[in-house]
Amino acid sequence: MQMAVRFKHWLTAVAGAASLVATGAAVAQAAFPAKPVTVVVPFSAGGPTDVVARLIGVPMGKALGQTVIIDNALGAGGTIAAAKVARAAPDGYTIFLHHMGMSTAPALYRKLSFDPLKDFEYIGQVVDVPMTLLGRKDLPANNFKELQAYVKANGNKVTLANAGLGAVSHLCGLLFMSQMGVELTTVPYKGTGPAMNDLLGGQVDLLCDQTTQTVPFIKDGRIKVYGVTTHNRLGSLPNVPTLDEQGLKAFEVKVWHGMYAPKGTPKEVIDKLNAALKTAMADPHVKQRLAELSSDIPSADKMTPEGLRTHLTAEIAKWGPVIKKAGIYAD
Ligand code: ASP
Repeated sequence: MQMAVRFKHWLTAVAGAASLVATGAAVAQAAFPAKPVTVVVPFSAGGPTDVVARLIGVPMGKALGQTVIIDNALGAGGTIAAAKVARAAPDGYTIFLHHMGMSTAPALYRKLSFDPLKDFEYIGQVVDVPMTLLGRKDLPANNFKELQAYVKANGNKVTLANAGLGAVSHLCGLLFMSQMGVELTTVPYKGTGPAMNDLLGGQVDLLCDQTTQTVPFIKDGRIKVYGVTTHNRLGSLPNVPTLDEQGLKAFEVKVWHGMYAPKGTPKEVIDKLNAALKTAMADPHVKQRLAELSSDIPSADKMTPEGLRTHLTAEIAKWGPVIKKAGIYAD
């Protein structure tokens, strides 16, 4: 009898504690966000991914009623940042903005310290961004035809910047080299922000980068542009031909972006983050700026947790064989 009574008291105490914890968690979720939210960006400040994060971070912060802090966590084509977020507390205060590199990493990195499909919750797709093939201003090639001749004649004396293995600039550069049948000297940076500085300064010859960074520099005439990586010409750069129309057939690279949280982040918190993302993407200034940068806002169904998960799964399946066939590995 004595034991049973003690057990009953113990059970009541445990149940009470559990309900306190549950209530505590529920209170935390209901109060979310009670402090600033950090968006981890896997590339250098000033680069195209950072531009997107800072552009949408302001209206997201307004919608959440909290400051959004940008944390540029660099290296290894974005995989260091992804691993950092995968290990972060699943409370909604650390989220991740990454581009399609999230889908190429599993094939590029044989020892990947995170699983894109197991270690994250999905907030939604963010923006689709075309790329541009650029040259330093005094490169002795004034159009794509002359560029082809120049890289064939100079081979690995030509330097091609990128943001590290797994970056889209790396992927675009590989596609360019393989279609040209040339081997250039690739120069990795922690993001194409610093790569652009060296292109502007003439320290590097070529760069393939997203329009979210490159359009203003192209319009200023401070760099040369040889083409865009979409099938159709861009509204922001109507006089720049596509690489496809210049003979680089099927050369389409459009950089999609997604927003993620650590696995285990409560659904109520994900829903609040998704609502804030949607508010930001509907913000008139964001829409205008993205239009000026020829970047497309995804349809509503893609700007959902399920939409991002589905797209990421399909992209991993798509890029895996392409990367394996090309024999490209980062580690
Ligand atoms: N453009 C970089 C890349 O190649 C990303 C960045 O620096 O924002 O992935």
